[in-house]
Amino acid sequence: MDNQLHIWNEIKSRLSLAYEEQSYKETIESIDSIFKVSNNYIYLIVDNDFVKKRVEMLYLNKMNRMLEGYVEETFKYRLITREQAEVELADQKRYAVNQPETLFGQETFTSNLNPGYDFNSFVVGTSNRLAYTSAIKIADQPGIVANPLYIFGDVGLGKTHLMQAVGNYILEGDIHTRVLYIKADEFVEEYVRLASKKRYDEFNDQFRNIDVLLVDDIQFLAKKEKSQGEFFKLFEYLHGKKKQIVITSDRSASELADIMSRLTSRFLWGVSVDINRPDLEHRIKILEKKLLAEVSDRDLIPLKVLEYIASVFDNNVRELEGALKRVLFFCTAFGYDFTVKNAELALESLITPKENHKDFLKKQITNLLSVVSDYYKISTSDLISKKRSRNFLYPRQVAMYLVKTIYDIPYKKIGLYFGNRDHSTVMHSVEKIANDLQHDRHIKIDVEKLSIKCGEN
Ligand code: ADP
Ligand code: MG
Repeated sequence: MDNQLHIWNEIKSRLSLAYEEQSYKETIESIDSIFKVSNNYIYLIVDNDFVKKRVEMLYLNKMNRMLEGYVEETFKYRLITREQAEVELADQKRYAVNQPETLFGQETFTSNLNPGYDFNSFVVGTSNRLAYTSAIKIADQPGIVANPLYIFGDVGLGKTHLMQAVGNYILEGDIHTRVLYIKADEFVEEYVRLASKKRYDEFNDQFRNIDVLLVDDIQFLAKKEKSQGEFFKLFEYLHGKKKQIVITSDRSASELADIMSRLTSRFLWGVSVDINRPDLEHRIKILEKKLLAEVSDRDLIPLKVLEYIASVFDNNVRELEGALKRVLFFCTAFGYDFTVKNAELALESLITPKENHKDFLKKQITNLLSVVSDYYKISTSDLISKKRSRNFLYPRQVAMYLVKTIYDIPYKKIGLYFGNRDHSTVMHSVEKIANDLQHDRHIKIDVEKLSIKCGEN
């Protein structure tokens, strides 16, 4: 499927060049996922019926001809609207969950897990280490060490990934374990659906008959009193049977609003762990890992480009990942080199320009200051202080010179990075070093080495 998506992205980029921009934008551009591959048809998801008809009329033949060039067998594209796809999925899921059927003598049970979310692909750092080790422990001994495991943190930081890793790990150990992953809002829907038909037994059969319950984004139970009551009963039932429960949320259990306290207090029975934002080093590691999942050659993208992406997207892993994919696609589709400049171009639309430049610059300069202070074996705070001892003064002037020559920003702005020095001080420092460079070999060597270290080569 990943490969199919890759092919589709290539075809997309060719279409974008072959057709008029406006029409492409209104139709093809937003098609970015494959629903399923079945009977040699590849089903692409489109937003609505209108787009579907237009694409079928204008593009489908061309798309299928292009596809022939990529795959040997006779595959063809078909379109399905998001709505149709959702209905089909819901039906499949319901069928599988409601009536575990006997297939070749074995029961099947749909856990709703994404097999890609496993422990191996989860990159551990200080921000998520505790959550990770707790998850591993409960996956090893479900129902015993911590029940429930409550994982909380902001969006896009890996809660769902980690929770599903628990499920996948348990299934790997024993394929017959009944692991059920469900989002809290789906739980509510399911309850409402069955309660409206008074099919309470069915509801109970469906949820009590499981070994591991993974409930994602529990905050969505807020204000749904009936569903909360039902969930409470389920929780008590499973917990009493020592079935492992994992819950995620965007906030700590004590901060959950509009959820009955007899329920939230249960969440504190087990272990509660939070996931925070990854630091720069951690983000780079995540990118490296994601890159390896996309391409076979790790060296395809220089570290500098990954550092750039990691420095701009510091908020959430989902965005970080999206940015990487975009750069990969952009450079591959247009045959551009993987340089920081091209990464900037690829990501332009995702980043508000000012923030982008400002944040990036700030990080680069902070990095430069630490490179220079390391080089002269002084602390960064001394480097940017007003202390006039030669030990500090000379490195400081060199640092100012480097900032000016590498980033070419106004003296006044440079002053801000050095304890708010005025622009004339900075200017004199820069000029002094520029002069010294002409006749002092040592300074020349220092500056050359530092320029390389700071990335200006
Ligand atoms: P949340 O549930 O907290 O909103 P997700 O689990 O959906 O976040 O994570 C968003 C994306 O980021 C997913 O694609 C996930 O694989 C990825 N991700 C998050 N944290 C990590 C991590 N530590 N290592 C690898 N991928 C991660
Ligand atoms: Mg999630």
